[in-house]
Amino acid sequence: MAQAAQLPIITHYTAYKPRPFTREQRDETTILYGGLTWKHERMMQGALHNLKYKAEPLPNIAREDLDAGKELIDVGACCPTIFTTGSLVNFLKKEVNEHGKDKVNSKYVFLTAGACGPCRFGQYHESYAMALDGLGLRDFRLFLLAQDELDQGPGNGGGLDINMPMSLGIIWSILCGDLVTDLEYMTRPYEVNPGQTELVLRECVEQMYDRFLHRPDKGKKYGTLAWHLMSSYFTRALRDVRKKWDAIEVDHLRVKAKVKITGEFWLQTHEGEGNYNIKRWLESEESEVIAPPVAVWLHYLMHPTIRKLEHRNAKSKHPKVENLALHALERIYRGTYNRFRKALANLPHELPDQEELKSLAEPFYHFELRGGEGHMLIGKALHSYHHKTAHMICELSPYSCMPNTMSIGSMANVVGKYPDLLYAPIEVKGDAEVHALSRCQMILTEAKKRAQAEFEGVMDKTGLTEKAIRAYEDKHPETRKATYYVPHRAYAGGAANYVAHLAYDKGLARA
Ligand code: SF4
Repeated sequence: MAQAAQLPIITHYTAYKPRPFTREQRDETTILYGGLTWKHERMMQGALHNLKYKAEPLPNIAREDLDAGKELIDVGACCPTIFTTGSLVNFLKKEVNEHGKDKVNSKYVFLTAGACGPCRFGQYHESYAMALDGLGLRDFRLFLLAQDELDQGPGNGGGLDINMPMSLGIIWSILCGDLVTDLEYMTRPYEVNPGQTELVLRECVEQMYDRFLHRPDKGKKYGTLAWHLMSSYFTRALRDVRKKWDAIEVDHLRVKAKVKITGEFWLQTHEGEGNYNIKRWLESEESEVIAPPVAVWLHYLMHPTIRKLEHRNAKSKHPKVENLALHALERIYRGTYNRFRKALANLPHELPDQEELKSLAEPFYHFELRGGEGHMLIGKALHSYHHKTAHMICELSPYSCMPNTMSIGSMANVVGKYPDLLYAPIEVKGDAEVHALSRCQMILTEAKKRAQAEFEGVMDKTGLTEKAIRAYEDKHPETRKATYYVPHRAYAGGAANYVAHLAYDKGLARA
């Protein structure tokens, strides 16, 4: 009699599904999060503590995180996925060594942003799950914060209630984190007393943490939305930041190359070994960095919905309520950012107009090609070029990033059409620092020459001398404060704009 064939045992793939995180566990469980700068994360911690969550940012990314990530996730993952997975892995390994697996599984949950679309951002949680499997921590809980829903409700046990107060607290901490970061980068290269900016910055961030911690409870729905939009609570807090910032003495006459950072979302935001500390390195190379605000990304996220509705209602003769509502929401968003800027003497940069970014990028990169930063990489570079806001663009491109590879390809066409646009695309793999920085240095040398030529040109044109400017500053000590507002004139460099401002707005030009 013929024997029945042995069927192979098949283990089907099952997607990661976290165990419930219950309301009763909340007081004993710490929410881990990360991915932004320490300033954003500290303010976010205030917003979470305010809602009675225990919350802790992961340690800043270090070089070892790259190795830990490479060991545990799929080959060919993009460098931000590897770094961020490795950071979680290294933290959990350390905790497991100290407290054991069961304790770690019950003591922590990890909260991260989720997305969909063609880039790996939509699959980060799969990489985290793969790494947890590798660590034998399949029971560890990961939760996703959708980027397009302010009120996701108390899912999976009710321990984590992603409601309006939480989402608005997170968004407001991102906006405030961006603005304070912008102040930091525009001040530090010009500080007269080394280290003063850092000291004041730390005090200001602690003060903002405290404001987020004591945010009043205005209910769970529209009451809290209305309060966030209309209250002067955060503008008052930012005005206090400005007062502290007044104490920093600066020298506006230092000639610096202004470098706009663009690139992939995580790489451009990060401050640390994940991007070779490139922002601090650029400052050490006599530059002023324009750090990219996360707020631009949040603004960008509104636009696909706006366009979808416009498309759907294109044949309608009358404007649709939903279109009007979304445009109003966008105006409110920019209005809030500008209200906060005003509290900081209008020093931080304005958010770029998304329609302008789209139309600038249009001939080179279609706006419906989503993934990563999409057309914004092209739009931002051209925006800076046309508005003369920087001498050069430094684009941080992650190793193995499909959307970024496409934008670099398109930038070759852009640079062909605008040969005087200084553009340095830097591939970041995490372990090729010397190569990346030396590439950047080549373009930076040219940017510095331009900054110097621009400065000398405006000194010649106005007939001003350093002696005359210093004499004016002695009589007007407010000009040496970091909060002194220098309007943007026709120059990319801060020193050139300052000279033009004194010459023409303050009447110092030779008659
Ligand atoms: S944009 Fe690129 S680097 Fe960033 S998550 Fe997506 S694939 Fe990775």
